[in-house]
Amino acid sequence: MHKGEIVVRVVYLKSFWLRYPFKLELSRKLEVALKYFPELEDETIYVGALPEKAIADAVAEPMDMIIRFNPRVKPTYVTIFHELAHLAIFKRVELGEKLPRWSEKYTSIFAMSRIPPELIDEERIPAVTNFPKHKKHLIPELCRKALEYRERHKRDYVRFLIKAIHGFDPWEKLKQLIKAKQKQNITV
Ligand SMILES: [Zn+2]
Repeated sequence: MHKGEIVVRVVYLKSFWLRYPFKLELSRKLEVALKYFPELEDETIYVGALPEKAIADAVAEPMDMIIRFNPRVKPTYVTIFHELAHLAIFKRVELGEKLPRWSEKYTSIFAMSRIPPELIDEERIPAVTNFPKHKKHLIPELCRKALEYRERHKRDYVRFLIKAIHGFDPWEKLKQLIKAKQKQNITV
């Protein structure tokens, strides 16, 4: 695949050819998405299908540069960016960066920080939160800010992000709910 600046070789595995029904859609979207992952320059990545019974939409095996997609679920950019992010993060860790490479939340926020808003085709940051449609255009910028926040303050960037998206602190809200519940129990 050669798209201007980033060259990534994509090898489709046998499972993809045998049991993946959205071949054209996935390969087109993958080609677009790869342009946003300069870490994968000169790499070979492998694309396969999960078993029919799989629960996940997709799964990455970053050590082997493999991503596998669920044959019962249409591939979205949000999922593709997430899986490519697993590979990119793994590469960066290999090159010496200290990143939480097994964190689903970090992977999603990393992925959504570089997705162009017009490609966001699901209203969710996987494993982090859903968001209302009208806030879609803000998501990449807020995710970039959350990653900066993590770098600078070494503090809870997930909480920071959820607060920035929804306008409230999810942990405060939970505390209030628990308090209200306790009060109820006492008065009943
Ligand atoms: Zn994941």
